Amino acid sequence: MTDGIDTAASRVDGSGTSGTRLFLGLTGQSGAGKSTACGYLREKYGAFVADSDRIAREVVEPGSPVLDRIAEAFGNDVIVSGRLDRAVLAARAFSSDENTRMLNRIVHPAILERCFEYAGQSDASVVIFDAPQLFESGLDAYCDATLAVTAPESELIKRITARDGIDAKTAEKRLARQHSAEFFERSCDFTVSNTDKTGLFRRLDTVMAELLSGSGPKRRKRKAIPMENNDKYKDLKDKLFFSPKHVAETGSKDDVGAADEYCRGYMDFLARSKTERECAEYFVARAEAAGFRPFAYGEKYAAGDRIYLNNRGKSVIFAVIGKQGAEKGVKIAAAHIDSPRLDLKQAPVFEDTELAYFKTHYYGGIKKYQWTAIPLALHGVIMTADGETVRVCIGEDDGDPKFVITDLLPHLAQEQMKKPMYEGVNAESLNLLVGSRPFKNDPGSEMVKLGILNLLYEKYGVTERDLFRAELETVPAFKPCDIGLDRSMIGAYGHDDKVCAYPAFTAIPDGVIPEKTCICVLTDKEETGSDGPTGLNSAYLTDFITELCESSGANPRQCMSASECLSADVNAAFDPGYPDVMEKRNCSYMNRGVVLTKFTGSRGKYDTNDASAEFIAKIIKLMDDNGVAWQAGELGRVDLGGGGTVAKYVSAHNIDTVDLGVPVLSMHAPFEVVAKSDVYETEKAFRAFYLSD
Ligand SMILES: [Zn+2]
Repeated sequence: MTDGIDTAASRVDGSGTSGTRLFLGLTGQSGAGKSTACGYLREKYGAFVADSDRIAREVVEPGSPVLDRIAEAFGNDVIVSGRLDRAVLAARAFSSDENTRMLNRIVHPAILERCFEYAGQSDASVVIFDAPQLFESGLDAYCDATLAVTAPESELIKRITARDGIDAKTAEKRLARQHSAEFFERSCDFTVSNTDKTGLFRRLDTVMAELLSGSGPKRRKRKAIPMENNDKYKDLKDKLFFSPKHVAETGSKDDVGAADEYCRGYMDFLARSKTERECAEYFVARAEAAGFRPFAYGEKYAAGDRIYLNNRGKSVIFAVIGKQGAEKGVKIAAAHIDSPRLDLKQAPVFEDTELAYFKTHYYGGIKKYQWTAIPLALHGVIMTADGETVRVCIGEDDGDPKFVITDLLPHLAQEQMKKPMYEGVNAESLNLLVGSRPFKNDPGSEMVKLGILNLLYEKYGVTERDLFRAELETVPAFKPCDIGLDRSMIGAYGHDDKVCAYPAFTAIPDGVIPEKTCICVLTDKEETGSDGPTGLNSAYLTDFITELCESSGANPRQCMSASECLSADVNAAFDPGYPDVMEKRNCSYMNRGVVLTKFTGSRGKYDTNDASAEFIAKIIKLMDDNGVAWQAGELGRVDLGGGGTVAKYVSAHNIDTVDLGVPVLSMHAPFEVVAKSDVYETEKAFRAFYLSD
């Protein structure tokens, strides 16, 4: 996926969630700002707030059992015209400690029960019990943490008099009946003082960051919250709600083993194929072994024929001719095999202070700082003057030297660390360190550069001039590996978009002739906008389809209007470390299966294909009928950035297209993470698609 983000607008926040629900008890003095705090937590963290003051009024509504018991205890005249007379009750209940305790014994359990009921009905990951009597009611025992909001007494009096229209003396008396700020500070896990809103919000963020990070020591063991009432609506919820689940819950046990096995093949492919050229070569070799032969212009093909078109060694089309005529349309899976990287400039070699470097120009959306201080490898080709191709691959084998872009030590990075992250590392400082030993007998300047060029000459027979005819790509020298103690994920460079290209290829029907002609196009240049002859903005795919049509007497325009395409590209998986950039109801998650993305683009659906409801319906049915775990996913919050895929270039030819692919963590980083089960589900999706009619 390309990124459509202007870097200055990207936003990252350190807060996170451990994934389990957080029950937070919030308390404090009258006027301290509990409601303001609750409002902020609701807004920013999607918290559900159970307001015990409001609930206290609810539980004594006319006809309630609590009201009856109060009347029993304090006299029937506390009820006037069916309603509780609060003044009368207060006079009696607060006349002695014993009476107060009696009232609490009646009311508090009912308040707790109602709090739990409401909490059970909400699916918010943060639940706040807003309770002035947090400790007296026993509600604190059900909280993961308790938080007090306090303010200086003078401030409290000012707020209470303004809010409740009482004089300062009365306000003082009211405060005197409540716990002191010291009590709350002593009793609560966290105290935030509210002298001004901005400060209050900042302090709340700090508390939440600690609580949600999961690493904080502040969550304590709490009593289990009874949620019986939650089940009351379970059947209805099951029927009406859509809640995508972890594939482990929906798939069979066999799927886990099958996914692991399938991903071994994927990881082997990744280890060999880091660039678009290497990917093209890998897939062509596999295709030839599987009976594909090169496409020839003008040739007539029959059902079951397997052909491929190698477009300049950087993008490839594979096709299996279907039973039905081309005028019935074709099934296209389109993925890209280029990944973000650092290309060498055409005159890359220079020397500075006895160190030799290659200058680079970054390719695609990268965060520049991520490319410093990691081992890098160099892949690509150099063309010689007489048209010979010299292949280069340095840094992948165990004994190979590797390269690096150095970074500034923290001791001297004070100024660098103050900069916004996108300015921390300059594009022109992404220089690859390639040598430091001067050429033996050379007495002049640039001895190290000479040494490097001499090595290149000895190994490849090329000179500095030949590098103008080169395409050399700097990529991370990491090998793909399992991630996690449970080995459920894969870490690697270039999942985007090889993790879709691989299943789009391996799912191509074998041993069976599909109804419609199946086309798998693995394209280049997606990361930079699909331009040039090997990108999908070029005509190579539609020309290929046109050729197939014309050789079989079909009308290519009719074919394309009846064709369907899965634009196979990755999507960003929800990352609990960065919840703020995602809209949790509409983003994709690891392990919930293949992601269906109706549209990409940014800022009001610009620059994107937007798949029709009709086409989406067809694809969803296909998934459901074939037991493919799927989820819907939009890339992040509206107006925070965005991205693009090849979908818009394919759909521009009057072809129904929708994005479908694998959710990725750390997308576009030098080392990205995917879940094995998602890769497996994606292959299932393509299989079903190719064979559908
Ligand atoms: Zn991408």
